Amino acid sequence: MLLKQHTTTNILSTTVLLLCCCMPLSLPTVPIPVHGRFTFDGNEFAGRDFGNQLHSLPWAVLHPKKVSDVASTIKHVWHMGLASAMTVAARGHGHSLLGQAQAPHGIVISMESLRGEMQVVIKGKSPYVDAPAGELWINVLHHCLIHGLAPKSWTDYLHLTVGGTLSNAGISGQAFRHGPQISNVHQLEVITGKGEVVVCSEEKNADLFHGVLGGLGQFGIITRARISLEPAPKRVKWIRVVYSDFATFARDQERLIYAEKTFDYIEGLVIVNRTGLINNWRSSFDPQDPDEANQFVSDGRTLFCLELTMNFNPDEEAHIDKDIESLLSELSYIPSTLFVTQVSYVEFLDRVHAAELKLRSKGLWDLPHPWLNLLIPRSKIHTFADGVFGNILTDTNSGPVLIYPVNKSKWDNRTSFVTPDEDVFYLVAFLPHAAESEGLQQLQDQNRRILNFCDSAELGVKQYLPHYESQEEWRAHFGPRWEIFAQRKSAYDPLAILAPGQRIFQKSISIL
Ligand SMILES: Cc1cc2nc3c(=O)[nH]c(=O)nc-3n(C[C@H](O)[C@H](O)[C@H](O)COP(=O)(O)OP(=O)(O)OC[C@H]3O[C@@H](n4cnc5c(N)ncnc54)[C@H](O)[C@@H]3O)c2cc1C
Repeated sequence: MLLKQHTTTNILSTTVLLLCCCMPLSLPTVPIPVHGRFTFDGNEFAGRDFGNQLHSLPWAVLHPKKVSDVASTIKHVWHMGLASAMTVAARGHGHSLLGQAQAPHGIVISMESLRGEMQVVIKGKSPYVDAPAGELWINVLHHCLIHGLAPKSWTDYLHLTVGGTLSNAGISGQAFRHGPQISNVHQLEVITGKGEVVVCSEEKNADLFHGVLGGLGQFGIITRARISLEPAPKRVKWIRVVYSDFATFARDQERLIYAEKTFDYIEGLVIVNRTGLINNWRSSFDPQDPDEANQFVSDGRTLFCLELTMNFNPDEEAHIDKDIESLLSELSYIPSTLFVTQVSYVEFLDRVHAAELKLRSKGLWDLPHPWLNLLIPRSKIHTFADGVFGNILTDTNSGPVLIYPVNKSKWDNRTSFVTPDEDVFYLVAFLPHAAESEGLQQLQDQNRRILNFCDSAELGVKQYLPHYESQEEWRAHFGPRWEIFAQRKSAYDPLAILAPGQRIFQKSISIL
């Protein structure tokens, strides 16, 4: 490898990367001045991700200190044109599943190095926070809480970066009401595939704004996001109830997401052939009667656990309890299966991290994660449940299976995100870990069987956090929205420099 690199300590203490190598045709060396630094060794972390199934080392990692570091790096790669195979991937917290944040032989930009100041602005009725895209959501939460505020829409796990989830969607139990995280952003600062720094919003550069949201990193690297806030509650009532019949479970879930007065968070779990309601890695749910909850045995049956929360402040507890009682009285769960606990708002939102710490201590966090996330139209969810739960999926011992409906009216169809074509659709998330390679193979086969079932039954399913091998499959994923996706690519990243790990577009090198 014709690597030319040196570090200079001039007045700006700038690092200069001389980029001329690993391209099929050598160009004159191109200096990239940055305030941060490039690393060429010890970059294994950038070739891995949470999925732990695909690994490819980058050529270099940029640890930017300033937004201009990201812009200069991309601009230089852009100027090298198609004579160079060099690509660039933003890496948030690396919690992708199948190499989406990797850049084989390219440059990975470690966005977490670009953390910086966050600013909460409280003007009128629409407070917001301006946050660096490399910031973790947990830190955004803590910062906003200083002002008694919090973002409205979450993911189940907060140790993910702002830019990483906004490039996908950011879906959790609040999405039925607020939409996904991409529906709760006012403005973005983005570096396009030409190295231009662009501020965009509904009013300004709207096409780029909508393209980047859910855009899988294809049109630009987000460096800052303006996120909508609301008053933060202090505490949360956290409830789980169990159903043995899918139709009743789904009817109650849908009733709750349609209702005007309802819970603040609505999710659900599928339990196949396992013991214990609280015994899954994803959650630190600790009800008042844990023994009873733990003794609950699904034993060959498929059960469905509805998970709900109601936010409150301490002086509202009495009337919140009444509201909960009234809402629960409308539901048809198995009466002996009402489990309730109460935690702080932060404990609830950060619940998966508590579970992560336990798993890490047992060395179980870094196993391969062959996850599969699907969005299923409401009219097909019963066919899906019949075909998959208790059939293709014969137990849920390798990890939780989440299921909950959301309202499409809360999604903006101008973004790059594609949803099923119905007013309500379900997120179904299979979240296993594979203890041995045989287990990995079995789980991958199970995912294939589920996808094949969806195809042959023509369920109109979309993958969330999608992974495809060919552009044909991507075209099918986007359907009629492919044209606009491809047009945006040629407008904002015409050389296909960005996010190569998504495998949607490939940079084609021209040999002159
Ligand atoms: C334990 C766990 C729980 C999860 N729970 C949920 C959940 O409840 N809901 C949900 O919606 N998702 C969930 N996810 C999935 C998660 O949202 C995605 O994997 C997300 O991409 C992870 O963010 P990250 O910061 O690690 O991004 P990375 O994996 O680093 O990057 C993801 C993609 O975005 C691109 N990217 C990263 N940063 C930027 C940027 N600043 N600008 C442009 N592109 C960028 C990358 O190049 C890559 O293509 C979960 C994941 C894990 C591991």
